[in-house]
Amino acid sequence: MNKIKDLTDIFINCRLSGLSSKYLNNDHLRLDELKPLFKVSELGYSVNQETIYCINIGKGRTKVLLWSQMHGNESTSTKSLLDLMNAFNNNEFLDVLENCTLFIIPILNPDGAREYTRVNYNKVDLNRDAKNNSQPESKLLNDYYEKIKPDYCFNLHDQRTIYGGEKGISPSGLSFLAPCYDIQSSINVNRRKSMCVIEHIYNDLSLVIKDRIRLYDDDYNEDCFGDHFQKKGAATILFESGFFELDYNREITRKYMFISIVTALNLISDKSKSIITTEYLSIPTNKVIFYDIILKNVNVDSMNVDIGINFIETLKGGDVEFTPYVFAREDLSKYSGHKEIDMHNRKIAKGALIIDVKLNKSLVNELNIKLNL
Ligand SMILES: [Zn+2]
Repeated sequence: MNKIKDLTDIFINCRLSGLSSKYLNNDHLRLDELKPLFKVSELGYSVNQETIYCINIGKGRTKVLLWSQMHGNESTSTKSLLDLMNAFNNNEFLDVLENCTLFIIPILNPDGAREYTRVNYNKVDLNRDAKNNSQPESKLLNDYYEKIKPDYCFNLHDQRTIYGGEKGISPSGLSFLAPCYDIQSSINVNRRKSMCVIEHIYNDLSLVIKDRIRLYDDDYNEDCFGDHFQKKGAATILFESGFFELDYNREITRKYMFISIVTALNLISDKSKSIITTEYLSIPTNKVIFYDIILKNVNVDSMNVDIGINFIETLKGGDVEFTPYVFAREDLSKYSGHKEIDMHNRKIAKGALIIDVKLNKSLVNELNIKLNL
């Protein structure tokens, strides 16, 4: 527990201000402030000619390649990385820099980050392009991997709010995966190293956020970069920034992602630690179990149904707007809502609840379900 408390204190001291919106693009990186200590270089350019930056720090033998925002609208881990670099600036975690060399790509998909989209400017999901290598961003990552031949890869993402464990259990705050390198889900030394790191994070963080850490789906997909690099021989770890109740801007997740990355780096930099894993496969797996809001017991056309609503995130006026959409109108007793409202069989006109489109605005206002974000 003390270890986590110490890391939390460091996070509080080193958390960069001015990054609380989910909208984060190249303009927000402020890499000039990091330049005295780090080597910041330009790795290349995106489809729409935005710069893709790379930061190089440390002088150790173990090489770690970390990249974030290959999906442009997944900014939480980027913030945790920037907080981490600020911590290095404040002389924290010097052992890590003594034993490891870090190669950090803070935003791999700057066009997607600017447009707040998952895909790149050509509308390609870069995390399905590892083998095709058709996009400039994928080529840069693949080439950089070949150039530095990392020992470890950290593949940093955000996941949606729909994931949890079994019904009634909390949402997935963080998810991890030691990706497969073949369809048999074999385990070699490198994959075991990935598992060991995840198990270590799980054990440490379970002390403070028990039941909030889960494993991501591990079906082998050679088009995904995690699987691709695991196959090439780097111990690769997928980090997914999840969701804590009503923390739609992911500030709580940002803290725990910071702690997770530091915990992983501390383990990697400590050569005395063995790579035996015993618990990885017993970490609970993610299940699609949540809606953002469930209206229970609604009377629509004399039928008693539940209404499942999720927020769609769109860019508006330089910030992210969360708009409620109806995704399901059925018995949702197997699901949970981050917010649940019992409607006590109240009648709602069908037009107010059109499936797959934005909720009737007057109903949204009436139910007061638009959260103050
Ligand atoms: Zn992603």
